[in-house]
Amino acid sequence: MLQKVLVPTDGSDTARKAIDFTARLLAGASCEVVLLSVVEEPAYATFWSDGLIAPEVIIPPAEELKAELRGRAEEMLAAQAEPLLAAGLRTTTRIRFGNPAAEILREAEDGGCEMIVMGSHGHGLLSGFLLGSVSNRVVHHAKCPVLVVRG
Ligand code: ATP
Ligand code: MN
Repeated sequence: MLQKVLVPTDGSDTARKAIDFTARLLAGASCEVVLLSVVEEPAYATFWSDGLIAPEVIIPPAEELKAELRGRAEEMLAAQAEPLLAAGLRTTTRIRFGNPAAEILREAEDGGCEMIVMGSHGHGLLSGFLLGSVSNRVVHHAKCPVLVVRG
């Protein structure tokens, strides 16, 4: 029996399909599901906190912006957790800041996750590719099995 599965989500319909599939796959199991949202920081937030842009130029300041983005991610995760909770799964939500693929891989390794379930695509517009750039990187670099749900 799996102990811990990571489900990264960007709130897209395809990620939602991956969540629904996880709920069906693991329904009733004692497995923990970690639902992860990676928030990409706008580049200027980094420039701002590095002092490369005068503080008065950017409104809101980086910390306020981060708090706002964190709040939106929390709302999205709460909504997306519903099918997992309805399936009786122990569900925890996580938010990380940074590059989505890198943070998904880090969370999987640091958290000791045994499988990653994710969508083939997300909010990106180039759906002609077989995989989006995030799922492509995760499939190539993950140390655990990755289950990709097609949109
Ligand atoms: P691209 O981002 O390359 O334009 P895309 O948005 O269509 O393409 P991906 O970003 O690779 O496709 O999304 C594939 C899956 O990766 C999503 O269904 C979701 O499971 C996961 N994912 C993508 N972005 C994030 C993110 N910021 N946080 C958590 N999971 C993500
Ligand atoms: Mn994307």
